[in-house]
Amino acid sequence: MTALPRKNRLVLWLSLIVALGFLSTSLLGYLAARGTIRGNLTKRELPLTGDSVYSEVQRELVRPVSVSKQMAQDTFLRDWVTGGERDVGQISRYLARIQAQFGTNTSFFVSEATRRYYSGKGVAQTVRETDPRARWYFRVKAMQGDYELNVDPDLVNRNTMTVFINYRLLGDEGRFLGVTGVGVTINTLRALLGRLETRYGQQVYFVSKSGEVVLSSLQASGLPERSRRGSIRTLPGLSEIAAQVLAGAGQPITTSYHLGRSTVQVNSRFVPELGWYLVVEQDEAGAVAPFLRLLGINLAVGVLATLLVLGLTMLTVGRFQRRLEELATFDTLTGLTNRGVGEVLLEQSLRETGRSKAPLSLVLFDIDDFKQINDAHGHATGDAVIRTVARLARDALREGDILIRWGGEEFMAVLGGCAAAQASMVAEELRNVIADHEFGVGQPVTISLGAAQYRMGDLSSATTAQADQALYQAKRTGKNRVASAGDTAPLS
Ligand code: GH3
Ligand code: MG
Ligand code: MG
Repeated sequence: MTALPRKNRLVLWLSLIVALGFLSTSLLGYLAARGTIRGNLTKRELPLTGDSVYSEVQRELVRPVSVSKQMAQDTFLRDWVTGGERDVGQISRYLARIQAQFGTNTSFFVSEATRRYYSGKGVAQTVRETDPRARWYFRVKAMQGDYELNVDPDLVNRNTMTVFINYRLLGDEGRFLGVTGVGVTINTLRALLGRLETRYGQQVYFVSKSGEVVLSSLQASGLPERSRRGSIRTLPGLSEIAAQVLAGAGQPITTSYHLGRSTVQVNSRFVPELGWYLVVEQDEAGAVAPFLRLLGINLAVGVLATLLVLGLTMLTVGRFQRRLEELATFDTLTGLTNRGVGEVLLEQSLRETGRSKAPLSLVLFDIDDFKQINDAHGHATGDAVIRTVARLARDALREGDILIRWGGEEFMAVLGGCAAAQASMVAEELRNVIADHEFGVGQPVTISLGAAQYRMGDLSSATTAQADQALYQAKRTGKNRVASAGDTAPLS
């Protein structure tokens, strides 16, 4: 296994850890924010809007209801009916005054005796049981309570959709005399809903008991337009929760539905005064959007930080690695290959020689009387001499030759392609180069050399031992000379 993939693996792991860290904190932050928003929306904001809308709508309708109640209890109206409905001018003036005084859009009375529909403008028409537009009258006639709210087109006022408050007018002993009341155009309520939607940033609409959307704001609020026509039982998304909404009686209910990829939170309650469900809803996406943007920014920062960590780590690890490799390979004093690596290289060269059958020789050399140089000029000068010898020898050798600092002031040259004779020549040249150099230490610096050719099948240690013996021979026979393993006399 080489060092490079291991380094890459380290960088990969580091980046992965940093990226995962960023991803998880960003994601957890986002999820927490979304949870808080969802909680806020369902537990606080939607119910509060529901409450406000409920009370505003009530306020808007409370007055018409109380005016209608007043009309149903008015002695004039009762007397006029029981008196035989004689003067139509009287009743139209009465109805017109009510309308003007309370600012309602319409006011009416339908008599049970004559089935005439009176308005501020006089007699409009006669109510017939067979007319589907008059169905409301017979419903009110048959109903238990005092009054109802009903949305219908106002036949007297250009068919404007109107919320009618239909109050039963009762005579003595509870005899049913007819229905009276006022109407408020639905646009008044629509405008109110629009204002509230804008104020709360939520959508508000009313649903009848059968599930029809009876009143919504006409998108006056600037909120995203969404079709609110028809029954919530069939509207996309809403159909999921229609049954839930329509089953809600007393307490407001909280639920949600999915529309496309977003979740819409819903608060719904029954408004007994209207007989309708008030639904308040908000698409979570709008509230969550800023946090989604934040998540995006976080992730971008994460990617950037990861890349930075990656780059810095690669740079640092690379630099350390190169430094370590240098330290492990090269001798710090001379810059030559050190002995540890040198021995590996030597083995390699011997193996190659074994394959290629090309000759290979070793030349081991040692500075003569080096102790004296050290003693006379100090260790620093000794170091300088070692360095110079190394440089001179390196320059004198061929590019492909390996020069190893074998020991303190001892060097080994590995000469590929050199047989014994050639090796002796190279050694002689090295000796000359050193001997001719002016070291400036006040005494000549020389080296002794021992050369040996590698014999096929030998161990590398055998050849180095031969070179060593040759070197010893050169020292023994006077130094500043070359000895070859071939001419070495066996040592006794
Ligand atoms: P010879 O001619 O027989 O080689 O005699 P010599 O004095 O050179 O003997 P030897 O090779 O045994 O001595 C080597 C000396 O070199 C001993 C040691 O103090 C010194 N030496 C070894 N390494 C270094 C080094 O890195 N720097 C210096 N300045 N001296 C060193
Ligand atoms: Mg020595
Ligand atoms: Mg020496």
